[in-house]
Amino acid sequence: MSGTYQPPNTSSRDDIKEGNVIYYTCGDCAVRVPLEPSAPIRCQKCGARVLYKERTKRMVQFEAR
Ligand SMILES: [Zn+2]
Repeated sequence: MSGTYQPPNTSSRDDIKEGNVIYYTCGDCAVRVPLEPSAPIRCQKCGARVLYKERTKRMVQFEAR
């Protein structure tokens, strides 16, 4: 940590566009996880890859290869 690195987006972490994310529910810790369509399917809290898609109630599981 040198302190000279500046992230490209410092103020956009909370600027989540509701219309551009898909909400999943973690199958492990049950937290709601908003993910962008291009984002990797993974719980942002516990790191689990078993997420339930809220709209379909269907389990979407991604296994590491
Ligand atoms: Zn989780």
